This record gives sequence, structure tokens and C-alpha cells, in this order.
Amino acid sequence: MPGTACKAVPVASLGDWIMEFELRDEEKAFDEEVEQFLRDHQSPEVMDAHPEQLSQTVDTPAKRAFMRRLAERGWLGMSWPSEYGGRELSGIYDFVLTEALSRYGAPQPGKGVGIVGKTLIRHGSDEMKRRFLPQILRGEIEFAIGYSEPDAGSDAAAMRLRAERKGDGWVLNGAKLWTTSAHFADWYWVGARTDPDAKHKGITVFLIPMDHPGLSIRPIWTIGDERTNEVFFENVEVGPDAVVGHVNQGWTYICEALDLERFAMMPIGGLEKKVEALCAHVHAAEVSGRRLRDDPVARRRIARVVTELEVSRMLQKRVISAALKDRIPTVESSQYKLYMNECGQRVADAALDLMGPDGILRPGDEGALLDGKFERSYRYTVVDTIGGGASEIQKNIIATRGLGLPKNF
Ligand SMILES: Cc1cc2nc3c(=O)[nH]c(=O)nc-3n(C[C@H](O)[C@H](O)[C@H](O)COP(=O)(O)OP(=O)(O)OC[C@H]3O[C@@H](n4cnc5c(N)ncnc54)[C@H](O)[C@@H]3O)c2cc1C
Repeated sequence: MPGTACKAVPVASLGDWIMEFELRDEEKAFDEEVEQFLRDHQSPEVMDAHPEQLSQTVDTPAKRAFMRRLAERGWLGMSWPSEYGGRELSGIYDFVLTEALSRYGAPQPGKGVGIVGKTLIRHGSDEMKRRFLPQILRGEIEFAIGYSEPDAGSDAAAMRLRAERKGDGWVLNGAKLWTTSAHFADWYWVGARTDPDAKHKGITVFLIPMDHPGLSIRPIWTIGDERTNEVFFENVEVGPDAVVGHVNQGWTYICEALDLERFAMMPIGGLEKKVEALCAHVHAAEVSGRRLRDDPVARRRIARVVTELEVSRMLQKRVISAALKDRIPTVESSQYKLYMNECGQRVADAALDLMGPDGILRPGDEGALLDGKFERSYRYTVVDTIGGGASEIQKNIIATRGLGLPKNF
């Protein structure tokens, strides 16, 4: 909540703070239908027993087949307009689906449906809509997102990947960093500098096949055991039909897409499952012949973790509530991302403290408690606080756009 020093700034009305959000009967029925589907299709090939955000990507043939099954049930693009093949259902249905998938560690439809598709619907040419939207809805196509570069991370608008005119098309040269899905995606949604004399108004978004001549990919392994990539462009020639929307308008689309990413791609189900697992451990474990659940320090720690999870859930509900009012929930998304990701770190930290030495054995190691779930989570949750905009950047957004504080002080 805003502090007293910021009282004069109209941060949020009372109605925004007092927000009730419960699923309606038909939404609960959909939740149950998805749960049943996931129980029926449980498979270690598609579901990660220790899901973290990035592990829910569609990076194998089995996961692609799973995504097509979701599509066959009409669960991709449920909230899209009917003229683009959607069902015009409330965004709550997308939320219910995403959360259920995250509880099971199943792959997420995120980037295609939530980022690329939604941005194309708003800004794409008719040709691009015709080409990409049906494939996204059928679950046939995966995207990689390329904004970050070696000298343009938090300040993504400083990107320098060059796109220069050649005839009526473009030739791209330079490099991207941290492009997570590049090694399995079909298409690259990539920002490039088309006007070297402008910053924000000199960026254009392109859609380029990932196997285009002149593109090469090098892996980077993160502390959380996930693969991300460097991507190099050497005279990558594309036609005018590769441009998304208008030339030099890309930054607007990227900002909208980043808001959608913070919202659409950060379900809380994985964290809920971790807290559940930790509670079960505290309930059952014995340390030096004593029940852990009787230990006052363990009880205080677990009570705090459960409370913080509840706060994360409330912040997520505020994001959804704002989105349902057809508003891009920029500040709410930042608050949720900041708190939920740092909560994930505190949960992993509490787990390792409560488990003792066996907790730090890795997944697959003999004797690893809960098969190393929290050892991995301890490392992975560092990554969570960086990808999609680092925690400091979320704080800047909350301070400037939420509280009206000046940008430079
Ligand atoms: C696993 C992983 C996957 C990723 N996937 C993708 C992807 O698919 N596509 C993509 O485009 N990008 C991706 N990213 C990149 C990610 O968005 C950037 O790493 C992030 O924006 C931070 O940029 P940076 O790494 O260059 O750090 P920097 O921007 O150099 O920041 C370094 C530190 O300084 C702080 N800092 C920077 N500026 C400020 C400021 N103004 N005020 C206060 N503190 C500041 C940051 O918070 C951070 O702590 C991924 C990153 C990771 C780690």
C-alpha cells in the first residue's frame, strides 16, 4: 500500500483496494474440466515434477503434441475476438487454464497466444493476422522473443541490432542476448533499430523464421539449469512483409507485450505447489528424534511463508481485476511480479533452512529431500527476479507510474 509520504498522489481508489474476486459457477466448472483433463493426461514427458517458470516451455515433440490437444479442445485464444477464431470468453478462462497448467508443471501457451497473437490482433497487418493467428490457435507454432542485447537489458530501448533498408526490404546485422526459446522456436519476434538517430521511436519489430539464413544460435546455461541463448545476425535479409505493424513504432508494441508477459506468463500455481510440499514436509519430518512441526522456529517460518503466498495471490487478483476492466495493468503487474518472485526466493530459502543438509542435495542425488526440489528452486528463483524485467525495474515502475514520483532524483 502507498505510504503516507505519497498521500497526495491518486494512486488507487478505495474500490481498487477493496476488491473481491471469486470464480463464477461456469468458471469453476471450466477449472474442474481442465483439472480432469490434466489428471487424465499426466505424463513425465510433458509435465515437470519441479516446475519453475521457464521449464513450462514447449520444447519437445511430446509437449507440442500436448499443446495441440489443448487447441483441439478450444482452449487456446479463448478470449480472442471471434473474427480471429477466438471465443470472446472473459480473460478469466485464460487465467484458469494457465494456473491449472502451472500446478501440474505442464507447458504454457504463453508467448504465441498471450504476447505475439494479442499484439498482432491490435497492430498486425491483415496478411500477418491471416498467416499467424490460425497457426497459433491450432498450437502449431512457437515463438522466441528477442529484445535484450549485451548493452540493452533493463534499458531495452537502447537496442542496437541494425536493420537497414535494402530495396523494399531490410538487412539485419548484430546480436541478441538471453533469447530463451531460440533453439526450438519456429519464429523470432525481434526488435531492431531502424532509425539510428532516435531511441524509442527508432525501433521496429520483425517476425523472422528462426531457421533463416544468416541467423546463428549459441546456448547459455543459467544458474537454474535452464537454457537460454545468444543469437547472431549476419546479413539477414527479409522482405517488407516481415515488419510487424509500422516501421519505428515497435517500442509501443514491445511495451504492451511486456505488460502482457508479466501478467500472462507468471502463474502462481508452481509456487502454491512448493508451499504445499514444504508444509507437508514440516508436518511429517523428524529432526534428531523430534517432530519438526513442534519446533516453534519451524512453525513461525512456515506461517510466514503461507501468509506471503496469500499476499502474492491477492496481488495477482488485483492484476486480473484490472485486466478485466480492459486496462493494461502495468503497475499491478509490476507489484505482483516483484512480490511473487521474491516470495519464491524466500520460500526456497525457508525450505533449505528447515530441511538441513539433505535439502541441498540436487535432483537425482541419492538421499535428496523431496528429490532436490528446493535446491533447484533456490537457484532458479534468482532467474525469476531477472527475466521479464529485474526487480529493481519493477520498483522503478511502481515508484514512477504508480506513485507519481519523479524519474530522476
Ligand atoms: C533466464 C533468462 C531468460 C531471459 N529471456 C529473455 C528472452 O527470451 N528475451 C529477451 O529479450 N530477454 C530475455 N531475458 C533478459 C532479461 O529481460 C534481462 O536480463 C533483464 O531485463 C536485465 O537486463 P540485463 O541482464 O542486461 O541487466 P542490466 O540491465 O545490466 O542490469 C544489471 C543490474 O542493474 C539493475 N538496474 C539496471 N537499470 C537500473 C535502473 N534504471 N534502476 C535501478 N536498477 C537498475 C538491474 O535491476 C540489475 O540488478 C532473459 C533473462 C534471463 C536471465
